[in-house]
Amino acid sequence: MHEAAIAAGILEVAGENAAGRPIQKVGLRLGRFTGVVREALEFAFEALTAGTKSEGARLEIEEVPLVVSCPVCKWAGRPAENFCMLCPQCGAAMQIVTGREMEVVWVDVE
Ligand SMILES: [Zn+2]
Repeated sequence: MHEAAIAAGILEVAGENAAGRPIQKVGLRLGRFTGVVREALEFAFEALTAGTKSEGARLEIEEVPLVVSCPVCKWAGRPAENFCMLCPQCGAAMQIVTGREMEVVWVDVE
């Protein structure tokens, strides 16, 4: 599953930050447009930490909304319909400003 690979990547980054100490919490910024299912990611994270010294570690997810902007008329905001990428004012294709983020922002260790 997609989320399992992502959770493994998060743990790798967190593990480098923890430098061998047990991880307690990991803060993650997650954009809406990544298509990642939050619950599935939390489940995968829990499954991967079970039985390790970081067992019980929590993933704290900060969701970043999808914000787009129009290069033609400069309209910016959240798309009215789910992931509709056409400008509501002029119909041009819009660019993603935020919503693609997926990064570990902090790691809490014991
Ligand atoms: Zn426009």
